[in-house]
Amino acid sequence: MLPHKAPSSEELIYFPYWRFKGLLFACVPQGIMNKFMDSSHQAVASNFFPASVGLRSQALKLQFVTPETPGRFLEPTLSLKKVLEIFDSRYTVTLDGPVYTHANIGETVSMLYSPFYVNKKMYDAVLNQPISAPLEDESIIDTLKGGAPHWKIQFLPTLCPDCGWDLDGERDSLVLFCKNCNSVWMPLKSKMKKINFAHISSLSDNIIYLPFWRIKANITGFQLDSYADLVKAANLPFAVQPQWHEDIFRFWALAFKVRPRVFVRLANNMTLAQPRDKMVNTIPKGRLHPVTLPLSEAAESLIINLAGFVKPAKAFYPQLDDIKIEPQSFLLVYVPFEVHHHEFIQPDYNLTVNKNMLTLSGNL
Ligand SMILES: [Zn+2]
Repeated sequence: MLPHKAPSSEELIYFPYWRFKGLLFACVPQGIMNKFMDSSHQAVASNFFPASVGLRSQALKLQFVTPETPGRFLEPTLSLKKVLEIFDSRYTVTLDGPVYTHANIGETVSMLYSPFYVNKKMYDAVLNQPISAPLEDESIIDTLKGGAPHWKIQFLPTLCPDCGWDLDGERDSLVLFCKNCNSVWMPLKSKMKKINFAHISSLSDNIIYLPFWRIKANITGFQLDSYADLVKAANLPFAVQPQWHEDIFRFWALAFKVRPRVFVRLANNMTLAQPRDKMVNTIPKGRLHPVTLPLSEAAESLIINLAGFVKPAKAFYPQLDDIKIEPQSFLLVYVPFEVHHHEFIQPDYNLTVNKNMLTLSGNL
């Protein structure tokens, strides 16, 4: 919630907003367009309250709502999906031509409550200033459903569920490691879930491991089951070897945040490389970049990843609408990159990531 400056005599009304911080992609005839967005929108359609919190979500210090927080918290009635559709349509009207497909990659999605109170007029309690003319009928506000915040912040112990050892991970990491029994854990609902992981080993010593989600998906409406299919779809300059028909195709998606303009290129290059090096099922020794992009968002990105490498693009784009990609299984893979002055380089797959393209997590 946002902080307030209301007199203590006033009963606060907390109005809900969906906040989406992340990347928007849209595939149009000119190619794949992108935009970074940090926006909020009403989670209850109402004319009494501002449509969004504006820049306050970035400028003010946010606090967690606890069951003890006084005030009436209005119940959200608009789904996140609906609000994302509003964001998408606002973005796509700025683009030329038909939108063949689009994706929202949420780095952080949250519900934000902004404080108000009614004292003849509607007051914005963040600034303690009126934002309306005198209200004719204050009771309309009371008809909006709400009450005390009855939810709780739940804490999960960061102990390995298998062996009881302390789990390791950076502050913003979405997965935690047990270096005792060599396992990787991700919070899911109210517990820690063990996940499949591996790394590609490296002989260099000055390296950093960047995390990727390798995803096997069911693709309908387009033939892409094997490496041979990929060579054909992406028009790669190789003669198809017979065994390539047996090599299963898998998407590679980023498990870390980067600026939108390199997001598709990196995912494309990894997917086209289809690394078939030996995967080692241990936590690599060395520097690990934290996993900061969840699997669910990586799954959202697959259609844009596909749109980025199929050739010729112009003939392919109109088919996108009929293609469905359903993720079936995944593996978290740490890929070694050589550390250079300004960039990280993966020579085997021809990948370069400028250090300034990696984005850091913000608050909440
Ligand atoms: Zn353990």
